[in-house]
Amino acid sequence: MTEATAVIDETALNLKISELQNKGVRIVIGSMINASGIAMAKSVPVARLGAFSRSGMGTAPVWDVFTIDGGIALTDKITPVGDRRLRIDLEALRALSGGRAWAPTSIFTQDGLPASTCTRGLLKRIEDQLAEKNLTALVGHELEFVLVNPDGRALDESYWTPYGLSGLLDRAAFVDDLVIEMAAAGISLEQVHAEYGCSQFEFSLPPASPVESADSVILAKIIVGIVARKYNLRASFSPSPFPGSVGSGAHQHFSLARNGSPIFAGGSNVHGITDDGGAAIGGIIAGLPDVQGFLTGSIVSGLRLAPGAWSGAFACWGLENREASVRFLAGGPSNPHGANIEVKIIDPSANVYLASAAVLALALDGITSGRSAPAEIVGDPGALSEEERNEAGVKILSGDPKTIIDALDTSRLARQLLGDDIVDITVAVRRHEQVTFAGENIEALADKFRLAWSI
Ligand code: GLU
Ligand code: MG
Repeated sequence: MTEATAVIDETALNLKISELQNKGVRIVIGSMINASGIAMAKSVPVARLGAFSRSGMGTAPVWDVFTIDGGIALTDKITPVGDRRLRIDLEALRALSGGRAWAPTSIFTQDGLPASTCTRGLLKRIEDQLAEKNLTALVGHELEFVLVNPDGRALDESYWTPYGLSGLLDRAAFVDDLVIEMAAAGISLEQVHAEYGCSQFEFSLPPASPVESADSVILAKIIVGIVARKYNLRASFSPSPFPGSVGSGAHQHFSLARNGSPIFAGGSNVHGITDDGGAAIGGIIAGLPDVQGFLTGSIVSGLRLAPGAWSGAFACWGLENREASVRFLAGGPSNPHGANIEVKIIDPSANVYLASAAVLALALDGITSGRSAPAEIVGDPGALSEEERNEAGVKILSGDPKTIIDALDTSRLARQLLGDDIVDITVAVRRHEQVTFAGENIEALADKFRLAWSI
């Protein structure tokens, strides 16, 4: 229940409360992700579950515009006056270890209407817009993070093999607990590995509907936070925890089906892509510069985006192309989930609901406006000369925070697809970062915000 006024049967509610109490749950936490991509929360004793889901808990509008340095980026519409309600979604509630349960929340006005800046509500609306065109999406997230000391300092790894077996063994207890706690909370991880960067790990979540899938990212990050603390560690979800070393992405895989038939397979275009599939890819690639502020908008996002870092900094697509912002994965025996696209440019400073909403809205816009995909880029786009890139129409996406946020602010497309209020809060918090930290060197910035997006 994300939109309408929650109607919860009293008996079902009491049953749920006793079920939770039997599992040792004392506190129920409801969280929201704001425009800075940070997680904020309220909690109640378990007996107050009904109040949290029905009338919700009060939250000042300024929650939307809290910044990563603890400041507030007020806008014309967001002032210290007013209040909204955070309501938990009972269907998505999960018991955790340590006497806690968690549920995602959606934000409502005092009159019970969906708040225009609720990013979870926005993603649900995009899902509904897809449904009006008989389209259904599945989204699968990858989470990359770097383990650090509790104060954010790098761990003293004497040696690190990228994608190595040794990293999995060095952190075996952490990985075991991660898998066990995720399973207990209803998440069956697809895979876990040691990533390229020192102390960097990655796991993948199974595909699910967009809102459900974004919810599971937050749940997974909570569990990472709980397990890391157990080992006196923290997980950095900064896009660039240690500049000069590889960054962390938050890649999202998307598949779409029209009337139940996949649009990225079984068609007559290259790799079996259908016309709808090509239109969706075309819409995403054309719109990336407009919505990049939702995907890689933070003050440290640009530090990750260098060509050669597999962060998808080139606005193009290609089969299994890790330098393309849209990597195409064909279906078949090696890919039982079926053909899909991976949007690699997204980083973990993004609000995950907003990032999914932006990409799906561009895909839908591509389909409804009958776009086609640009020519596939085969091979490393970084190996093309500037002239060849221009000829192929491949842009390098900007790594400059000001360029990225100015493009979002002035984008008619982003405003039309996602709404002025969502654009304005995002621009406000990201401009605050740019103005407040103008002139800071990149090491100082990375240091300051290494744990900003951790839970
Ligand atoms: N860490 C890379 C990034 O910043 C991605 C590496 C990979 O392809 O998994 O997106
Ligand atoms: Mg990876």
